[in-house]
Amino acid sequence: MAELKYKRILLKLSGEALGGGSGFGIDVDEAESIASRIKEVRDMGVEVAVVIGAGNRWRGKQGLERGMDRSTADYMGMLATVMNAMALMDALERLGVMTRVMSAIEMRAIAEPYIRRRAVRHLEKGRVVIFGAGTGNPFFSTDTAAALRATEVDAQVVIKATKVDGVYDADPKKNPDAKKFDQLSYIEVLNRRLEVMDSTAITLCMENHLPILVLNLWDTSALLAALRGEAVGTLVSGD
Ligand code: UDP
Repeated sequence: MAELKYKRILLKLSGEALGGGSGFGIDVDEAESIASRIKEVRDMGVEVAVVIGAGNRWRGKQGLERGMDRSTADYMGMLATVMNAMALMDALERLGVMTRVMSAIEMRAIAEPYIRRRAVRHLEKGRVVIFGAGTGNPFFSTDTAAALRATEVDAQVVIKATKVDGVYDADPKKNPDAKKFDQLSYIEVLNRRLEVMDSTAITLCMENHLPILVLNLWDTSALLAALRGEAVGTLVSGD
């Protein structure tokens, strides 16, 4: 088997990834297809942690726009991520992959509370750990939760799954001349306001020298190629 570039990864999925074509709700087929992608990686011996968003259900900003209290709206978003985490857990376990959902907000009947050392232990035992409820704090995003948890559990990379094959200087769906970046520095992402992750997440990655790889999870070969160290997607790092 080819040498692995990354032994422990954190995969960041947006909630919309679970929503299928519409991007809303949970498309069980889509959850299964994501789960089988994760299983392939797990079967290569890679330790996998996952942070999942909730854009398919609720984002705090939706409530804010309608006059809701920001913290309440954000807590609703965090709760929604736990439902997504459970859907992914279910899809993975049906494929025979051992998982643990760990929640930043205690809800012991359905998820373990997040305890860093326990999370690391699960990863070492080959379980896929799904982090729910973001950071547990309003005013943050699940991108920031991904950067935070990846740093805490010593993941070697954050893999941000998108539906395009990397970061472009314009929307490739609207602009046929859009140029794809193979590599970017954190500063370039921040200065050019490129849509990789929000600035809090990028800064956290920068300060902790944690690379971010943006790739198309729906291109079945991209993730496996990335793990073998082939140049796919866009790599954001300090270089
Ligand atoms: N959220 C939060 N704190 C966190 C993570 C998430 O308050 O640490 C809330 C926030 O309202 C956010 C929502 O949960 O809009 C869903 O997360 P996100 O928008 O990051 O989901 P994604 O865009 O990845 O689907």
